[in-house]
Amino acid sequence: MHKVGIIGSGIAGLAAAIRLQLKGCETFVFESNTYPGGKLSEFTINGYRFDAGPSLFTMPDYVDELFLLADKNPKEYFEYTKLDEICRYFWQDGTKISLPAEKIALMNTINQNFGIEWKNVEKYLIESDRNYQILGSLFVDKSLHKLNTWVSKEAFKGYSNLLNLGLFKTLNQKNSNYFKNPKLVQLFNRYATYNGSDPYQTPASMSIIPHLEYNIGAFFPKNGMNGITNALYKLACETGVKFKFDEPVLEIITQNQKATGLRTKNKILPFDSIVSNMDISPTYRKLLPKAKAPEKILKQERSGSGLIFYWGVKKKFPQLGLHNIFFSDDYKAEFQAQFQEKNITNDPTIYLNITSKLKADDAPADCENWFILINAPANENQNWEEITARTRKNIIKKLSKILNENIEELIEAEELLDPQLIEIKTSSGQGALYGTSSNSPFAAFFRHPNFSKQFQNLYFVGGSVHPGGGIPLALSSAKIMANQFFQT
Ligand SMILES: Cc1cc2nc3c(=O)[nH]c(=O)nc-3n(C[C@H](O)[C@H](O)[C@H](O)COP(=O)(O)OP(=O)(O)OC[C@H]3O[C@@H](n4cnc5c(N)ncnc54)[C@H](O)[C@@H]3O)c2cc1C
Repeated sequence: MHKVGIIGSGIAGLAAAIRLQLKGCETFVFESNTYPGGKLSEFTINGYRFDAGPSLFTMPDYVDELFLLADKNPKEYFEYTKLDEICRYFWQDGTKISLPAEKIALMNTINQNFGIEWKNVEKYLIESDRNYQILGSLFVDKSLHKLNTWVSKEAFKGYSNLLNLGLFKTLNQKNSNYFKNPKLVQLFNRYATYNGSDPYQTPASMSIIPHLEYNIGAFFPKNGMNGITNALYKLACETGVKFKFDEPVLEIITQNQKATGLRTKNKILPFDSIVSNMDISPTYRKLLPKAKAPEKILKQERSGSGLIFYWGVKKKFPQLGLHNIFFSDDYKAEFQAQFQEKNITNDPTIYLNITSKLKADDAPADCENWFILINAPANENQNWEEITARTRKNIIKKLSKILNENIEELIEAEELLDPQLIEIKTSSGQGALYGTSSNSPFAAFFRHPNFSKQFQNLYFVGGSVHPGGGIPLALSSAKIMANQFFQT
């Protein structure tokens, strides 16, 4: 039996393990932490449950597909519902809107708030769908490092639409041309943050992201985001994958340009193939120190990170929903601070997620579990203590004003995650949430392939390699890798 050693049980490591086990391999997963899921995990403090990382679930088919592959009914493992409301948006001039998922209601809401601009929104979403069909099939579901991708039907469709795809202007330029109202520009610029990028740099092709939320939908797992990890971990165990927790891998052993085994904290073990779900940068720097590292790839700008405040709040706020955004007054300054100054402005946009709105047992009665994410630069050893204290003060002031409550007095449980801690907890290079940034039109071509060109039988999955970060893409990386397995 072909024995595979997998480094890491993040969402991509779990998916890789399931796929390879189902291909007939004997699969072993080694995880540094004492739990599976990596960034997609959970914790509880004083009766408040929090999903530690991701809060927005799109493209659930990528999860379902793994159960179907194992001939199981996904619903018996993992249930989720489509959200009726996409997000609530708040501006500091008092404007508030709640965007419903249903198309006619959505256009009516846009009409009520932004008048005739609803027609532009409708056109934008149609274009977003069309471009996703072209780019998604090429950049999300296939290897960019195999010739057959570039001579496929999908590729030729892409070449003939190159100018329409918006590779050569920024997302902000496209949105500013599309919408007259600056609030709509800001709202659609925000989608750059879905892969940790800057709307003033990322190409307009990123306007495919709203397609996922508005045309396909946003979803909520019945057991919270961590329900995805639990369901995949259960499936992996049932298919026969073996896990070793609290067992960091210290070295990938190679011989004659071939990966032959792993050295973990406790043992040296031979394997026929190795799959690394560790961020690509530390995989080379720490586990393959003698290998020739692909410097150009490893030096790509990291995606944005996050400063996350988990607050147990002893009051209910009916004016808030599951997903809420409190925009900054100067969006450009915010990204300038994040990507150029490597700092956080004093008026950052606040993302507030409250799972107890849909899953009541996530907070005690009459209370809410607030997950607050502020876009932050990747870790470059900034003074996080100072940035955190200042940002906490600024966001409490802003939320207190908009919600007309003294928020500080309502916080009865608190936890924090900053870029440095993200790096420590999951070995993500510089604590980036999504691997490398998409701030250049060529970013996709500078992500590491899902296989090694240097060592036979060495593969890579996860948010730092092709096709990129976020749950759906990390799951897709495992699919692309498994399709290449036994072929390279
Ligand atoms: C705060 C936050 C918010 C986010 N929001 C969203 C969102 O709303 N929607 C979305 O789709 N995505 C979101 N993301 C991004 C998403 O979480 C990631 O893209 C995805 O989970 C990455 O999965 P992964 O398998 O690549 O890596 P990880 O989750 O980083 O897993 C890697 C695993 O490998 C283990 N490991 C590393 N090195 C070793 C070693 N040497 N030996 C053994 N084990 C090792 C780590 O401990 C970890 O468990 C968010 C991320 C964060 C942190």
